[in-house]
Amino acid sequence: MATTIDNTSGAPRAPAPRDSRDMISLTIDDQDVSCERGETILEAAQRLGIHIPTLCHEPRLPSTAACRVCVVEVEGARKAVPSCSTLAADGMVVRTGTDKVRGMRHLYLELLLSDHNSFCTPPCRDACPTHIKIPQFLDYIAHGDYKNGVRKLREDLPFPAILGRVCPRPCEGPCRRQLVEHPITICWLHRFMADQTRADEQTGELLLPVEPKPDTGKNIAIVGGGPAGLACAFYARLEGHDVKVFEALPHVGGMLRYGIPSYRLPRDVVDEETNMLWRLGVELEVNTRLGVDFQLDDLTSEYDAVFLALGAFNSNDMGIPGEDADGVVTAVDFLGELELKGDVHVGHRVTVIGGGFTAMDACRTSIRKGANEVTCVYRRSRKEMPAHHTEVDEAEEEGVKLELLVAPVRVVSDEAGKVIGIEVQRMELGEPDASGRRRPVPVEGSESIIECDQVITAIGQYPNLDGTSEEQGVKRTRWRTVAVDEFTLQTADPRVFAGGDVVLGAQTVIQAVAQGKKAAWSIDAYLRGAPMDEVSRELVELRATPFFSAMSKKTDLDPAIARLAEIPPVFIDMTTDVSHPAPPADMPKCSPEARKTNFDQIEQGFTEEEARRGAELCLDCYCPANGTCDLQRYGIEYEVFENRFHGEAAHDYPADFRHDFIMREPNRCINCLRCVRVCRMEVGASCYDSMGRGWDTIVSTPDNMPLQMVGCVSCGKCAETCPTGSIETNPRRLGSYDLDESRCIFCGECVEVCPYDALEQTDFFELADYSRTALAGESLFVRGAKAADPLRESLKDLVPHVLDAELGAGWQWTPIESDPVDLDEFDKEDA
Ligand code: FAD
Repeated sequence: MATTIDNTSGAPRAPAPRDSRDMISLTIDDQDVSCERGETILEAAQRLGIHIPTLCHEPRLPSTAACRVCVVEVEGARKAVPSCSTLAADGMVVRTGTDKVRGMRHLYLELLLSDHNSFCTPPCRDACPTHIKIPQFLDYIAHGDYKNGVRKLREDLPFPAILGRVCPRPCEGPCRRQLVEHPITICWLHRFMADQTRADEQTGELLLPVEPKPDTGKNIAIVGGGPAGLACAFYARLEGHDVKVFEALPHVGGMLRYGIPSYRLPRDVVDEETNMLWRLGVELEVNTRLGVDFQLDDLTSEYDAVFLALGAFNSNDMGIPGEDADGVVTAVDFLGELELKGDVHVGHRVTVIGGGFTAMDACRTSIRKGANEVTCVYRRSRKEMPAHHTEVDEAEEEGVKLELLVAPVRVVSDEAGKVIGIEVQRMELGEPDASGRRRPVPVEGSESIIECDQVITAIGQYPNLDGTSEEQGVKRTRWRTVAVDEFTLQTADPRVFAGGDVVLGAQTVIQAVAQGKKAAWSIDAYLRGAPMDEVSRELVELRATPFFSAMSKKTDLDPAIARLAEIPPVFIDMTTDVSHPAPPADMPKCSPEARKTNFDQIEQGFTEEEARRGAELCLDCYCPANGTCDLQRYGIEYEVFENRFHGEAAHDYPADFRHDFIMREPNRCINCLRCVRVCRMEVGASCYDSMGRGWDTIVSTPDNMPLQMVGCVSCGKCAETCPTGSIETNPRRLGSYDLDESRCIFCGECVEVCPYDALEQTDFFELADYSRTALAGESLFVRGAKAADPLRESLKDLVPHVLDAELGAGWQWTPIESDPVDLDEFDKEDA
């Protein structure tokens, strides 16, 4: 017998005692099981603890076998059968995991996913080292709500205007919009948004992601005011710690100021965006160098924790004869001198060695400072150049000559030791090396000389660790960086943490920011007494755990630790439809002729119209059910990573946010009908049905009307049963539950119909059984926020009715004249 439903509560009713004639025995996956006659194979398997996947099965309701994912093989049967709707029979032999069964489930899942126009995890967010919530901030731009957009961004990235100008945009590479056209210009869009609010924020309200926590009484010293140090300062301050930044140079910014030229990153942007820190109460001491003006031991004795964010200021040597000649300079010194002194010597004919950001900046700065001829020498091909391709293009537009597939072998100098040229050798590309790029192999006898009077080297940097030692716990790696725990960024001295280029080697601003944020959260955990070795072990374990288990284990962790977790997502392949392809706008730029004589900003920024339209292109590859969705679970389990049914474009339905509490995203619907049946059979509201025909069938409300117009009681049971995240509940804001006491006739109907028994009738009044006040900060019965004690509140506030009851006069209808009524005043008058 199938489980029966108790219509009043919706809970399964206990089966009546049966005699042995009602019991049958069968074998499932070689295990014997007895079950009641009338139970399905699925129910019998559940008795054994055997999990059969199903998407449409709702345990409290009769089966429909709509999804077919629960198929099993039954010995003697011609075809595989759906286990949710096939009754178990005496002597039956069932197999739930054969190759045939798995193959069929894979096929059914592929079919379901072929019209599932929605993704679980945005690949852009995963690719971003600090995991900015990209679809969410784009949504703010699309709605013109820039302040809240910046707040959202700052949950992970404190400096969106800076990064919007210099980030190498790892997020844009995997953007799914390019399945149909171009990736979204994510980076330029957050630049636009931050630029809209930057000026106002200088003296106005700070756009913080959260209110800073109360002071903890703990203090943190941060050494280095580059992006890693400043990001750490921001997040540590929000946690309520006192923070002081010690910076060797006259201004903060690190390579943002002393490396990246102002034509890419104007200094007022750096100043304005970092100004937020000082207004938040972060202290700063500039022109003070660790190892010279103070020692690490001074900090560890004075501060509860130290974060080393020293960057990578030492330049690699070329390792070729003659490189100490007069006229050979490192790009870091060259660019730094320009910023520090306001000018720098540049040759007439300059050769820059390298192919990254730094090399391009040295080339383009040389052009701006008046060099007649600038040649960039790089040993691989253009494709392998680490600089962003737009920078290489722009450098060429400005007149920089690229010499690709050549490597320097000797610096040539005159008798006075002054550089007059550089000897280079041709390369060809061999097998890929450890970096995955093809190794340059010298071509014998291909040497030649490039004449020049200045050589600028930009072939990588490493940290200057002066002022720290292994004895102090600051261990070195073989790459001359600081060794830290990968998850907590703690060094061998538990009080000292490190991050950014000093740990990663010369990398990027966004990676430095990501490490700064992580360090702040890790230091916070340490200062609050978390056992850091254990934290690290847990995080290592979590990363090695399969996706679904990891997501659920993460919820067991203390939120302060869980935020340090990195769970690699798994991407399932599904069909996307983009009904209205539209390429994103191009960034307007100064012409090469206009820009190569000055340091003015090249990229001019989007107009509001361009930005809003660009943001609207986001496919919103984000699902709130990520990590709990059954379709995702089975998609991963059955490895639907190469979906074969991309032939037909998926439907592209608009999402429905018209109901305050229940959100519907039909693109995630798999027509399993669970919501239809639960709403009809359990709630009795019948809001949904299967609409349309064939390929166009979709579950919706009649005529796609808003839920509130089709008898929805806002119980949320449809969302609860939805296996995919197609129906989700909004966090309730209970402002709309204000009771109008002048109209309530105390009929008790609300108590009767509430499917969650959230209301209860008491001796003296209808009081909430649990406190919506606690949930919403507002009482159901009174206007205005109150402390959460429903009984006391209600007694006090349900005047005059309660007073009547208290006085023994029973309930009487007394309309409220003024609101609220002061009970004390009433008492006085009464006395
Ligand atoms: P840094 O930015 O190097 O900051 C370290 C700070 O520590 C500095 O302020 C320094 O003065 C201070 N410091 C060092 N030693 C001491 C000490 N002993 N005592 C006190 N203070 C100390 N990345 C991108 O993403 N996009 C780009 O376009 C880009 N362009 C670049 C161009 C150039 C020319 C260079 C050199 C780098 C570029 N990078 C770029 C890389 C990026 O700038 C760095 O990866 C990033 O700045 C590292 O941040 P950080 O905070 O770890 O270190």
